[in-house]
Amino acid sequence: MVKVVKFGGSSLADAKQFQKVAEIVRSDESRVYVVPSAPGKRFDADIKVTDLLYECYELASSGKNFYEPFLAVKDRYNEIIQGLGLNFSLKDAFDEIENNLLHSPEKDYTASRGEFLNGLIMSNYLGYDFIDAADVIFFDEAGNFDASKTNEILSNELSNHEHAVIPGFYGRSFDDKIKTFSRGGSDITGSIVAAACRAVVYENWTDVSGLLMADPHIVSSPTVIKNITYKELRELSYMGASVMHEDAIFPVKKVGIPINIRNTNNPEDPGTWIVENTARRSKYTITGISGRRNFCSIIIAKDLMHSQPDFYRKVVQCFEEKNITLEHLLSGIDTMTVIVHESKFIENEQEILSRISKLVQPESLEVESGISLIAVVGRGMKSQAGTASKIFKALADARINIRMIDQGASELNIIVGVLNEDFERAIRSIYHIFVDAGDK
Ligand code: ASP
Repeated sequence: MVKVVKFGGSSLADAKQFQKVAEIVRSDESRVYVVPSAPGKRFDADIKVTDLLYECYELASSGKNFYEPFLAVKDRYNEIIQGLGLNFSLKDAFDEIENNLLHSPEKDYTASRGEFLNGLIMSNYLGYDFIDAADVIFFDEAGNFDASKTNEILSNELSNHEHAVIPGFYGRSFDDKIKTFSRGGSDITGSIVAAACRAVVYENWTDVSGLLMADPHIVSSPTVIKNITYKELRELSYMGASVMHEDAIFPVKKVGIPINIRNTNNPEDPGTWIVENTARRSKYTITGISGRRNFCSIIIAKDLMHSQPDFYRKVVQCFEEKNITLEHLLSGIDTMTVIVHESKFIENEQEILSRISKLVQPESLEVESGISLIAVVGRGMKSQAGTASKIFKALADARINIRMIDQGASELNIIVGVLNEDFERAIRSIYHIFVDAGDK
């Protein structure tokens, strides 16, 4: 039985955190492959090593002196090494990075060194082999992750190592350079490694005890979600909930490996299980609530629009021409409502509106901004009558006006639109009616 364990930056921010990590790894002999991030923040005002490295690159590439952030990086690692009492030096690795910065600074290479150096320390501390991610993780010519090449080479390499540390966040590009994933990408590496060795679980260790049912900045001490399906997680993260890199679920999802989100600072907590399917019911009808602010609705009215088969296509085309994705499309008998995010719409607003006028000659065209969308997500909603009415009751009791409602055919979520100023109150009242008010 093989488990892949990935530790985030806050789990590896200093020597004390490294000790907790080692204890976690050693407490279960199936935790054989370890994927570290770079050292994260030790306190609120601290700077992540990856950010320091990006700063080194920015300075070096514009010919400026990069020694201040570079020394800060070296100090962070040296402190960890000393704190762990290791007889080990990163001097050669530091020299190589400095050399690169001085002579031919490369952005992805520089940023990736955060994970690379942490991986070297971790492998020394645990006594595990070190596998350089640049030798086993590949990107294709278009810059996308090359799953088939990686899988073949990585699974073969892993089979030669009983225990190994594989740094997160980077791999090798088509033209033989170091290339990183987007920020937070060590989560993706962990998932790739888990898929390649067909792990029984991908454990993602962070600084919270799992995914919460709602944003803790809005709802005080929300409940931890024990079990969630990949699909539910997609819905919640698309609408703003975040615990992992969005792309991290795909490699493991493809081969049916569950993800377990765990807390390095509270290893006894069971955390959240993210799975393909589950017969486990959650204690509540809903799994979670998330939301985003600042959407616009564009309401297009025209009598008998239904008799024009090309009406929808023409409207959609106006947004497509500006490369704007539609968040929601709602239809009434003589109206069509398009919901888009303000950030993308407003700068092209007049052009899009006049294009719609020209293409479909509406009787009226109304635009409203300042709308928040709230997704109430739950696999349990399908089998439970009255979920929608409960949401509406919660909002009505709080005197919040609903601007739109959208329930997907899968009945996995119900989306409601409210005004931005009602956003937080709406989330709290929905949470309250399902969780605090004793929904079982
Ligand atoms: N260290 C990288 C970042 O800060 C990648 C990661 O932590 O997953 O984005």
